[in-house]
Amino acid sequence: MTLPVRIAVNGATGRMGRAVLDLARADARFALRAAVIAAGAEQVGAPVAGVDAPGALRYAAGWGEAPGLDVVVDFSTPAGLAAALDHCEAHGVALVAGTTGLDAALERRLQQAGARIAVVHAANFSLGVAVLTRALREAAAALPGWDLEIIEAHHNRKEDAPSGTALALGRAAAAARGMTLEAEAVYAREGRPGARRTGSIGFAAVRGGDIVGEHTALLAGAGERLELVHRATDRAIFARGALAAAAWLAGRAVGVYTLDDVLAM
Ligand code: NAD
Repeated sequence: MTLPVRIAVNGATGRMGRAVLDLARADARFALRAAVIAAGAEQVGAPVAGVDAPGALRYAAGWGEAPGLDVVVDFSTPAGLAAALDHCEAHGVALVAGTTGLDAALERRLQQAGARIAVVHAANFSLGVAVLTRALREAAAALPGWDLEIIEAHHNRKEDAPSGTALALGRAAAAARGMTLEAEAVYAREGRPGARRTGSIGFAAVRGGDIVGEHTALLAGAGERLELVHRATDRAIFARGALAAAAWLAGRAVGVYTLDDVLAM
């Protein structure tokens, strides 16, 4: 792949999109070619850098006018991700997919896209969470009889719950115990749900203020408990991980890759 890597940011005015734009603009590995946002958003047509000069890059509503690209970095909405996926598949562009809250059909589409384009899909692009996932796999397998609860906290504007990261942690722990999350997950308790079912994996979601993202995997045994906690205090960590994935993905063979592949841990 010749540098710089030509990228588009999907969801460019969002909390994550802005973090990606800030880092990408200061990084010589990347040439920012497009910034896509929701159709109808007030920033459509406004200059991305804030300076209104002829030829300045402007926020675009959709992919109709997109130039040649190597990689799309997506932190938008499920509908935004689906539109980016259409563009990437039609034009052979690689995709770094960070949006969470995907339904089963979109998850499947993303997996199937790996037959035609290179995709990195991660519910959490932080290195710390990648290591937390590994530690949880090991703990869940080593302590099979212990009750596992996953507690996550996010800012008050997050739309999906539990977080994609919490679900990915649950899936990893269930697999480490030879189970599936579908069979073991308990997403809500209210009234008199009865005693805890052995082997189940409980989830709790806290929403408030500007919390960037916290995940606790709590393993409770008899007379002792183990807590594995990750706290993100700056969303630049996700942007950095996503850009590391974009640089790694450019020019790579088609397929669906994970953050573990990128970090080669
Ligand atoms: P946000 O609400 O601040 O921003 C969403 C952005 O998407 C906005 O720019 C909006 O204009 C844009 N958008 C909406 N519809 C669109 C469409 N159809 N096409 C293109 N753009 C569209 O959200 P956020 O906090 O930046 O989070 C975005 C997503 O990223 C969420 O799903 C969140 O859970 C996820 N996220 C993932 C990670 C990770 O590491 N994978 C980290 C943080 C957030």
